[in-house]
Amino acid sequence: MERVVRVVVVGGGYAGIIAANRLRTREDVQITVINPRPRFVERIRLHQLVAGSGSAAVEYAALLGAGIRLIVDEATVIDGVRRSVALKSGGNVAYDYLIYAVGSHGAAPAVPGAAEYAYDIAEFEHAEQLRDALAGADAAAPVTVVGAGPTGIETAAELAEQGRPVTLVCGGLLGPYLTTAARRSVARQLTTLGVTIVDGPDAKVTAVHPHSVVLADGRELPSPITVWTAGFGVPDLAARSGLSTDAVGRLLTDETLTSIDDPRILAAGDAAAPSGQPLRMSCQAAIPLGAHAAGTILSRLAESEPAAIDIAFIGQCISLGRKRATMQLAHFDDTARRAYLAGRFAATVKEAICKSTVWGLAREARKPGSYSAIKGGKRQQRIAAAMALADQQR
Ligand SMILES: Cc1cc2nc3c(=O)[nH]c(=O)nc-3n(C[C@H](O)[C@H](O)[C@H](O)COP(=O)(O)OP(=O)(O)OC[C@H]3O[C@@H](n4cnc5c(N)ncnc54)[C@H](O)[C@@H]3O)c2cc1C
Repeated sequence: MERVVRVVVVGGGYAGIIAANRLRTREDVQITVINPRPRFVERIRLHQLVAGSGSAAVEYAALLGAGIRLIVDEATVIDGVRRSVALKSGGNVAYDYLIYAVGSHGAAPAVPGAAEYAYDIAEFEHAEQLRDALAGADAAAPVTVVGAGPTGIETAAELAEQGRPVTLVCGGLLGPYLTTAARRSVARQLTTLGVTIVDGPDAKVTAVHPHSVVLADGRELPSPITVWTAGFGVPDLAARSGLSTDAVGRLLTDETLTSIDDPRILAAGDAAAPSGQPLRMSCQAAIPLGAHAAGTILSRLAESEPAAIDIAFIGQCISLGRKRATMQLAHFDDTARRAYLAGRFAATVKEAICKSTVWGLAREARKPGSYSAIKGGKRQQRIAAAMALADQQR
């Protein structure tokens, strides 16, 4: 009888689901996904869940190909020697290959009071808590959103569009990724929605109280609801399992996405750090990384040489409520171009992008191998150039 190869995918997000579906191109692969929730979370719509302008959960039945086993549980330790994953509810799942795709969450804020009184939006349950808190608050109650990366901007805009009085405290620059012109476009649209933007070097929250926030310049803003979007963190499962990680906790891999410690473990998505040079937190990167991790396993099984990752970015598209957006176009290497799109057309593009991520996962479930990533990022050349520069400076 043909030997079955057991692949366990830890994490059923964008990277994990595309990887699991892609592995179905071989019939001798038995695929198991471990995820703590019974439904897929569309994290890119969590600000809509909060504002009541959309849902952010999709049934796995629509996204997982036939024969893929879903275990609703949390992985607590990966034992690379025994090749098994321990589950929170007890028991273990054995594997021949493991794909580490546990994603990311917000960073634990160090600012006094933030952990106690501010709401997070990076994970489904936190977004639900914020939605419920908003439902229980007066519609005129001021809301402060802290952090002006895409998550903070999208959240501020979505809540302002619902008529909430919102202040966005940028912690520095509004949309640091954006060019000056695209930043102005975001600022204009936020202002039209009624968002008060507090930016500049002193635009930092130094304390969060139950009904207010204190800024670095001493000002105290009324804020019965504070949303904390600044910072990035990842689950500590890799570090807890004795695997090498970068300083943030992302699993360190080579350019084929194979762990530097263990050829049977691969990583993809926000929780991966290929060559210690992680890509931007995005499903734009997570999906091609997931497909690539599956491809590396398929290459090994076919006894061929796995390819190095080659991922190209196209931009950063920030929704500003349901009718507006700014899409900063990017070079393939993820640096901003001069060009950007704005307004209603950009909003239509953004909605199409959001829909296409879920369609892409579902299509790969129906037709494994159908997904193809945009290539041309020339990552290897960039990494080689950076290393050569570092060598010269030594
Ligand atoms: C509000 C918001 C808006 C965003 N908008 C955009 C956007 O417009 N465009 C874009 O490209 N990106 C956007 N992002 C970022 C994007 O959502 C993430 O980069 C993306 O979800 C990463 O995909 P992933 O598969 O690596 O991880 P995730 O989608 O986070 O999936 C990881 C999964 O692993 C599970 N998991 C964690 N620990 C364990 C464990 N121990 N055992 C088992 N399972 C575990 C998690 O519960 C989760 O289901 C946004 C994020 C937020 C929060």
